[in-house]
Formats: sequence, structure tokens, C-alpha cells
Amino acid sequence: MIEADLARSFCRGRRLPQANSRSVWSAPGLPSLFELAIPPEKREQAPRTPNASRGSCPAVIVAQLLAIFTATHLHAGEPPRDYPVQPVPFTAVHCDDIFWAPKIETNRLVTIPFAFEQCENSGRMDNFTRAAEVLEGHPPANRKPPPYPFDDTDPYKVLEGASYTLAATPDPALQEYLDGLIAKIARAQERDGYLYTARTIDPAHPHSWSGPERWLKDPDQSHELYDAGHLFEAAAAHYQATGKTNLLNIAVKEADLLCDTFGPEKLHIWPGHEIVEMGLAKLYRGTGNERYLTLAKFFLDVRGPGGDEYHQSHIKPADQKEAVGHAVRAGYLYSGMADVAALTGDQQYVQAIDAIWENVVGKKLYITGGIGAMGAGEAFGRDYFLPNLSAYCETCAAVANDYWNERLFLLHGDSKYIDVFERTLYNGLLSGVSLDGKGFFYPNPLESNGQNSRSPWFGCACCPGNITRFMASVPGYAYAQQGEKVYVNLYVAGKAAVKLDNGVHVQLTQQTRYPWDGKVRLAVSPLSNSPFTLMLRIPGWARGEAVPSDLYKFADEVREPVSLRLNGKTVPVNPLKGYVALQRSWQDGDTVELDLPMPVRRVKANPKVQADVGRVALQRGPIVYCAEWPDNPNGKVRNLLLPDNAALTSEFRADLLNGVEILRGKAMSVTTSEEGKLVHAEQDFEAIPYFAWANRGRGQMAVWIADTDTSVRVPARPTVASRSRVRVSSHGTNPGAINDQMEPASSNDHENSFFHWWPRKGSLEWVEYTFESPATVSHTEVYWFDDTGSGECRLPASWKVFYKDGDEWKQVQTEGAYGVEKDKFNVLNFTPVQTSALRMEVQLKPNWSAGIQEWKVE
Ligand SMILES: [Zn+2]
Repeated sequence: MIEADLARSFCRGRRLPQANSRSVWSAPGLPSLFELAIPPEKREQAPRTPNASRGSCPAVIVAQLLAIFTATHLHAGEPPRDYPVQPVPFTAVHCDDIFWAPKIETNRLVTIPFAFEQCENSGRMDNFTRAAEVLEGHPPANRKPPPYPFDDTDPYKVLEGASYTLAATPDPALQEYLDGLIAKIARAQERDGYLYTARTIDPAHPHSWSGPERWLKDPDQSHELYDAGHLFEAAAAHYQATGKTNLLNIAVKEADLLCDTFGPEKLHIWPGHEIVEMGLAKLYRGTGNERYLTLAKFFLDVRGPGGDEYHQSHIKPADQKEAVGHAVRAGYLYSGMADVAALTGDQQYVQAIDAIWENVVGKKLYITGGIGAMGAGEAFGRDYFLPNLSAYCETCAAVANDYWNERLFLLHGDSKYIDVFERTLYNGLLSGVSLDGKGFFYPNPLESNGQNSRSPWFGCACCPGNITRFMASVPGYAYAQQGEKVYVNLYVAGKAAVKLDNGVHVQLTQQTRYPWDGKVRLAVSPLSNSPFTLMLRIPGWARGEAVPSDLYKFADEVREPVSLRLNGKTVPVNPLKGYVALQRSWQDGDTVELDLPMPVRRVKANPKVQADVGRVALQRGPIVYCAEWPDNPNGKVRNLLLPDNAALTSEFRADLLNGVEILRGKAMSVTTSEEGKLVHAEQDFEAIPYFAWANRGRGQMAVWIADTDTSVRVPARPTVASRSRVRVSSHGTNPGAINDQMEPASSNDHENSFFHWWPRKGSLEWVEYTFESPATVSHTEVYWFDDTGSGECRLPASWKVFYKDGDEWKQVQTEGAYGVEKDKFNVLNFTPVQTSALRMEVQLKPNWSAGIQEWKVE
């Protein structure tokens, strides 16, 4: 399709400037749509949008007119079917607050250029060029496929994030860079629309996950449709933000190929990694081409049974009631089901995702909003399995969780979904990126023994790209609209322009220090006096509800109520579905003042969550806190006891972590003396927002802190081992765990910090202690790690102990056997030796790896 045709089809698909269209903010120097909708003679009196000044540039105005990527109007006169509630798009919302605005700017100025640079340096851009050279008959010397068949998606995701930033802040240099990248992508597209460098670079020898034929391996691992889905998402965003069709044309060409390839009378394949469903829904909205929606629904309808839980293909999506398998795939699947349900009216998909949501929010959600507890399979665990130290909580899964919850809100208009969205956004999603914008987390655990640190990039780099696109789009989640109702979902200082179905234009201006302060002042300025309803979200946390389920509860009572004033007069706060509805005839100058008190709250988990028994989490407003090593004496926080009656206060520290509200109080540290006695010592306690952890190096961190004596992780009595330097073979993971004095409850204890050699299997390995000073030793105890049921570590085949004699390693003379038993310390006594170092040689079982929870020496 040529550009002009496309542009026409997009315009046909819009109801501009009638009902449901959204006003957008203008670029500096341009009138906004808000103003364009006002007859020129009246514009002088019209309220002005920020940064807007006189002048015009027809190309940009057209782009902005096109930039309204909402419901399609396929048949004149008929309302299109879509979400009953519509978001106020990010192009119509401007944040100038102390929390999000600087983070969004860091994303724009640091993270996005950095991620593009990483894509360049890691050869991801070059993959497109190499594919193009093959297509153009000049095969490059290097025809090795990309390391992962989904490497193409990383540039797509960053391109999507960059596009959002262009809508808010024009940047000709960035625009030019994107055009160059898009041209590179276009050259890598095969004539019929197929775009997948993992095959095109060398079709005879594609990536090993790709299979010899197109598509057939997609239900497994080829990721061809996943790549297409991310391309569609990026194309929709790029078009929405810039009005340019260069990326959209590529997407449409591939979407048309998919429509020609898959369907009831064609290829029956379900996507192995979902997202193409969401991408097709966006293309349908933008182009009005119903084939894309039909195909999105086909991809859901054709899914399962006969697959597996990992891919959510074990049963039909419509029959699914529990969240299982790979958490990112699941979140994208549920989001795609919501889109298709909204666009087609298919209620069976609504019923399924409603049931799955109850399962997640009732049994599988972390207090940080993270989902996907297990590292094995990057998957949801069984009900209530929410370990903290080994929590996986992939950043991408948090992003997927927010996509899904936003969509459920748009379907149902209930703020409980925004409660989950907000919890995830401010905690388990935001923790995925460092404060400087250049360090990322893949997993986001809720406890650390110092084994976690941020990384500038990953071989499998899904998470950084997802951060770039999500952070740039945050303003688009603040407001929504339905008929004559305006929803205020997130409290963020700034402005929004909304046009209601009755044609009324409203400008909203928020002043607040949220999330550090719950006072919000909202100026409501309709263009003319008009009746409509302002739906103010009263967050669950302000209503005494930690989550919309019995998974977490506030352990304390709050006496200060939420208060609300309209033009200075108190209004009763009786929320329905989480909203106070202020219905009246509004006029310019009306002001709403909301006060959401933010005392420090203690949260308790449902007792069925084993990992959190006898523990408490701290929350203030939407922010979940953690204790981290730099703020607490001796750098230790895992052995803290925070009694329920210990007073906690909060204070804003402008100098810390880019400015955060911290919590302060007194806690007890519990240790074991040389004589084996428990020692309790009162000390200062500080907690920081969880999202800001791991910005000051590696060390201990804990979200759930013991509030009962029996739950404290007390370090065992120190031994020669705990004062030794550890070395391990084969770059084994987390050697510090071997002598951290933390003793496990079982070999499979994931709450204790453990060491392992995975992915090494069947090999001969070793660990070594170099003593602080030479010592006479005759006794050692080892507690093996074994993750039967969730991983690939088993008890080893055998082991031996050696001591250092000069430069030589000599085996000790044992009394008794070398034990390899589960769930206990395997004790070994030997003839005393005077030595400076001890070494354990471990023979792994064939096809299995192994690990160690703790190794003591005396
Ligand atoms: Zn990821």
C-alpha cells in the first residue's frame, strides 16, 4: 500500500473531530488540537496548553491529527466496537512532576540512546544489513544467524520507546536516526513481507531454533510471530507519534503475509511466544483492516490443546482459569485476549482472563507487583509459592502484568485493576532500571544476600527494550474517558487535555508531590460550563486494602481518613468500584483537593505464603520499601527483627537516590556469638523504596523483614570457614553463599542463599577456602543444595577433602564416610591437620548439576 492510500485509510478510520477523538498536546510553537477545535476568533480566550504558542506547520498538524490511534470507525454511523473505557493517549498528557518527569527524561536522554548503542555494538542492527545483502545478491562473509532468533525485537522495542518520546519532544536527530534504522529494516524484509533475520541471513542454515521451514517451529521456539508482533507494536507507536508511514508500511506488508498464511483454511499454528495478537489488534485499529483482527482472534482460537503449560497451549485459552507457564508469554496472551474480546465482543475470553486474574491476584502476585516466581521456565509457580530470595519476577513480566491490568480496567472500569497496575509500576517494574538509566535487572528478587547486581545489557536483552518503551508511555496511563466520564487513575503533576463524547473539551491540571505526598490539587477547566463526571480514583492502599484479594493485608489501622474538597467544600468519600464520582456542571476555575494520608503501613501476607510467615513488609502510599545494606549497621539486613510495635517515621531525603522518602526506626539485629549464644542488639533501622535498590553496589536487601524471633535469619556461629576467602571452579554462581553462616531449612531451601555450578553437569568441580591464618582443623560439615522439582541440581555423586601442605594438595585421613544426604549437614571428621587452605573436590552426577547451601570447617 502506498503512503497516500495508507494515510487515507487511517483518516477514514477516525472520527475526527467528532466524538471519542482525543485532543493532543502540540509540539512547541504549534497550536494544540485542543485549540484547533476552537474557532479562530475565539482562540484568544481559550485556555492554553503548556508550551503552546502561535504558529503552525501543516505537516506536524496533520501528523498530530493522524496521531490519534483510537477506535476505528469502519462503517460510517456505526459506533466501533472497542474497550468501553478509552485511555487518554500519552500525546495528550504532559507530566511535569518530581517523580516521573525526570525518569521519563532519563529514559529519553540516556536509556534509549544507550540501548540503541548496545543494539549496534552487539550486532543486532548489523543482522538487518546482512539479511539485506543476502536478498540483494551480495551475501556477506559472515552468515552466522543472530545468537537468538528474537534479537530483531530489541531494536523494534527501543524504536517504539523512541517514537513515544518524539511525540512529546521533537528531536530531528533522533527522527533521522530512526528513519535510517527503518530503512535498514525495510531492506531486510523479503519480497513477500517475511522479516526474520535468523533465517534470511542463511536460509539453508537458519538459527537452530528456527527449523528448516518458515513458521512450523513457531509453537516451539522459532519466535517468528513474536518478532512480527514487536514490529507491529513499534510500527503502531511510530505512526501514532510521528504520522510517518515508513515503518507502518513494513508492518502492513508482513501482516498481509500472515493473513495469507494463517487461518482456518490455511496454516494452523499458534504463536509460541505471544504478542502478535496485541500487535495485530493495534494494526487493525490503525488501518481499519478487519483481516488483522480476524487473524488476531484466529491465533487465540487455534491455540491448544495438546501443547504445554510453559506456552499456555495445554488447553484452549478460553478454558484457562489459572496463570501457568512462562510469565511474560502469559501476560501478553492475556492482554491479547482482552484486546480481541474488546474488539469483537467475545465474552468467553473476558470470562477466562477474569478467572486468571483472580488466580494471580489471589495467589501468585508479589507485594511488589512482580509475577513469575520461578527461574525454571521463567514461570508462574504453584499457588502461594512466592519465595523472596529466589523470586524471578522478570522485568518483562511486570511490564506484561501492567499491559494486562490496564486492559482489564478499560474493559470493566474498575479501579482494582489500576491498584495492581500502580503497585507493579512503582515497585516491581520500576526496579528493572537503575537510577542512572544504564543498568538493568532481568529478575527482580525481593531479598538478596549480595548475589544480585544490575547489568548494562544481556545476551537475551528483552528487559531493557521493554523498559525503554514502557517508561516513555507512562503518561498514557494516567487518565481515561468513557462517555461523559473522565477517570483520574494516576496522580502525577502535569496537564491533560480530554475531549468527552458530548464534545466538551476539558483541561485537567494536577499539582502533587505524589508518590511522596498524598495531597493532590486538581484544577478542572472545561472550555465552557458543562456537565460531566470526574471519576477520582481512591487507591486501594488509601482505603485500607493492600491488594484486591486476601493475599496481603495491612496489619495496622489508620485513623486519618481520605478527605476531598470541591471548591473548598468537603465532599463525602464513598467510592464505588474504587472511584468517587463527582457529577456536576463544571466550570473553568473549579478545583478539587484530594488528601490521601500516607502513614507508614505494615503489610502481612496470607499465612499460606510460606516465605512470608513471621515477616512484615513496609509500604507508604503506593511505594513498597526494602532494607538495604548501605543504610543499616554492618551492612546486614537479613538478620533484622522489626517488632510490630517499633515506631517508624518517614522523611524526604533530597540527597539520596535522586530524592526519595525513606523510613526510619529502631530494629534488633540478631547474631550468634563464638560461644553459640544468640545476641540481640538494638540498632538504627532505615528502609528505602524497593525500586531504588541495587544502585550502590552489591549487598544484602530484604523486603520482608522478620517480626517474630523464630523467623529471623540468624547467622550461625562463626567458624574458620566464615572468615575464609572462597574460590570455586567453573565460575560457579554465588560463591559467597557457601560460608555466609546462613543455614538452610532444607536442601531445596530457596530462601537461603545457595551456591551452584549449573549449567555444568557431570563434571569434577571444586571449592576452596583460604584461611585468614593457618589453623588446625579436623571437622567439616557440608549441606548440599538440591532443587528437585524446579531445577537441575542434585546431590553429587561423591566428594573428597584435601588440605594444603606447602604447594601440594593432600587428601585428609577421614574417620567415617563422605556423606551425600539431603536436608542435613553431612558431617566428616578427619585426622587433625595444620593448614592454610582446605579444598573440596565434588564429582557431579552424570547429566546433573550440583550446589552447596553451606560448608563449615572447624
Ligand atoms: Zn525480559
